[in-house]
Amino acid sequence: MKPAVLYRNKKILLLIIVLLCIISHQAAPLYKVLIPAVLKQGSAYFIECAGFPSGCSLQFEFSDKTKSPKFPLVRFYSWKDRYYGKQQRNTIAAFVCGIHPLAALGTAKITIFDKENTVIYTQPVTITAENWQKEDVYLNSTLTELVTKPDPEKEAQAKRYQEILATINPFGIWLTKPLEFPVSKPRITSQFGIQRRYLYANGSKSITFHAGIDFGKEKDTTIYASGSGRVVLAEKRIVTGNTVIIEHLPGVYSIYMHMDSLAVAPHGTVRAGMPIGIMGSTGLATGTHLHWEVRICTVPVNPLSLMHIDFFSKLHTIVETQEGGDFD
Ligand SMILES: [Zn+2]
Repeated sequence: MKPAVLYRNKKILLLIIVLLCIISHQAAPLYKVLIPAVLKQGSAYFIECAGFPSGCSLQFEFSDKTKSPKFPLVRFYSWKDRYYGKQQRNTIAAFVCGIHPLAALGTAKITIFDKENTVIYTQPVTITAENWQKEDVYLNSTLTELVTKPDPEKEAQAKRYQEILATINPFGIWLTKPLEFPVSKPRITSQFGIQRRYLYANGSKSITFHAGIDFGKEKDTTIYASGSGRVVLAEKRIVTGNTVIIEHLPGVYSIYMHMDSLAVAPHGTVRAGMPIGIMGSTGLATGTHLHWEVRICTVPVNPLSLMHIDFFSKLHTIVETQEGGDFD
């Protein structure tokens, strides 16, 4: 081969190698997802990740082929002092998601979609069981009627309630630390996830599960916001009595039911530990208690799983600056 031809072939070869490098680099973006390999029924998870564009969402497909809602990617911003007072913007991106207490056990698949709904990442995980307790709840004729009698107002309230819990407000980033108990010196009378059999006065029954935690205490007990947020509902409802719903993160809500009176109004913001009402027995309640519930994109999760200190520890440092600005 002539030296000139050899030289030209080498150049072409080099060009091909460079092109292949570019293509392979583009074909495999670097995604990082920090997720436990084993997830528990009824628990909430904060899945930190990197490399995903805005507008992504995460969905679980369980072993029985049922799918979870799509949990949005939340970006937490902060301004961090750099040199001589110069500020640098930092972000943490995470999917805040929950596993339904009755989710099918075994191998599940995580799928992450981009904003055009194209699959960009998948990973297998394992769902493990919680041993939910069982209990019977007897309802007298008044409470039976409250539950079983068809009522257009009750249905309209239920529809609106579901719409609120399904709302994902991308700007609703309020939480800076783990959730706290909504009462001081809490006495839990009914745990999350208990499989409940309602025994009605008319002899019929229905089976459901307890989507929150009940606290029993004396009347006049103050109820506190379990985390900072925005009040999205504060009103008297037929089934749940005087009720408050607080938005903490996009799609993440805490709910407080059966209160005697309310101390907050819709659209107001609250800090963790601020009084929101007084414990009572309004609505479907067999005695004075607080029913406290947390929903993530409508999925009920054990509120205790959002109370572990290291759950939001990184987030706590990162978003503190931003939140201060919102409240001042
Ligand atoms: Zn309850």
